[in-house]
Amino acid sequence: MVRLSPTRKLDVMRPVLKCEDCGDVLYNPEWSEFLGEGQVRHAWRCEACGCRFETTFRLEAA
Ligand SMILES: [Zn+2]
Repeated sequence: MVRLSPTRKLDVMRPVLKCEDCGDVLYNPEWSEFLGEGQVRHAWRCEACGCRFETTFRLEAA
């Protein structure tokens, strides 16, 4: 029987965040917004405890 393991590559490429409140792992931001000058803001909502927070990061020029 072949057992598929989760790919590490996906883990690295996806924005992954831990809930500041309960520590649950969030995989998909609720929405994302481009702020200009390569900056992106993600808004997150934890499904486990319902808390919300935002993160901002700068995209590296390709
Ligand atoms: Zn939470």
